[in-house]
Amino acid sequence: MSTSKLVIPDLAGKAVLITGASTGIGAALATAFAAQGASVGLHYNSSVDAAQALAGTIEAAGGKVALVRADATKSLEMKRAVENTAAAFGRLDGLINNAGGMVARVRYEDMTDEHYDAVMDLNGRSVIAASRAAIPYLKEHGGFIINTTSIAARNGGSNGAGVYGSSKAFVATVTRGMAKELIPFGIRVNAVAPGVITTPFHERYSTPAQLQAQLATIPQGRLGVAEDCVGAYLFLASENLSGYIIGQTIEVNGGMMMP
Ligand code: NAD
Repeated sequence: MSTSKLVIPDLAGKAVLITGASTGIGAALATAFAAQGASVGLHYNSSVDAAQALAGTIEAAGGKVALVRADATKSLEMKRAVENTAAAFGRLDGLINNAGGMVARVRYEDMTDEHYDAVMDLNGRSVIAASRAAIPYLKEHGGFIINTTSIAARNGGSNGAGVYGSSKAFVATVTRGMAKELIPFGIRVNAVAPGVITTPFHERYSTPAQLQAQLATIPQGRLGVAEDCVGAYLFLASENLSGYIIGQTIEVNGGMMMP
């Protein structure tokens, strides 16, 4: 699906921080939000070259972008990423919590406390830290938070991805709780749950055979690509399109799971 010709007027001029935006789904989101006229805080950590290249491409197309570097597992660094984005654009209207990952495939039987901490810090702590830092800015004009969960939050995760799936279920419940707390301030909180999307995520964690096995369970008959996820985020970011949608998760998975 392409959103390049789509125009959503109420996103123009909004300042949006997208975490984990140097690659995969986050990079597609940064490109799409910038194309809508939003100013994009492009958060990255280790992928310096990819982040700089993407920022260059967005700027060359006339978009506004601020690069912010932070280790997502460190609350103070995420706070600074939020503050630096707000300082760059003079406001913050939206936060997309997208940074995340499996860390490694580890079965529960073999799991260490270190692995548990690494997965929960990356997928859970990062969302709370970035959101906590963003809330005072979002309260100024109203705004949105969109979290990225996963199909694994509902199906328990594929082989060795159990604690990853659980961390995303945690994010799904954080989404509901934050949605209730924040809607009185005009801040809408929702989530997107990707299915199997071909990004660096699966290059790292899945073999071709594992992806083939997943493909066989997708009614639409193909794996997803990052751009397949973009429309759901644009929709949830737009007050005009989704202003009465609060605390929900949109599943983007080619029919692989229909909860
Ligand atoms: P990706 O690996 O391209 O993106 C993950 C992003 O998180 C990267 O930009 C990475 O740099 C960033 N990140 C990881 N660790 C970080 C750290 N310590 N500090 C800062 N940033 C860090 O893969 P993706 O598929 O685009 O993943 C985006 C989100 O979607 C993740 O939260 C992932 O869990 C979720 N998701 C992906 C799939 C899929 O099939 N690809 C399915 C469900 C959910």
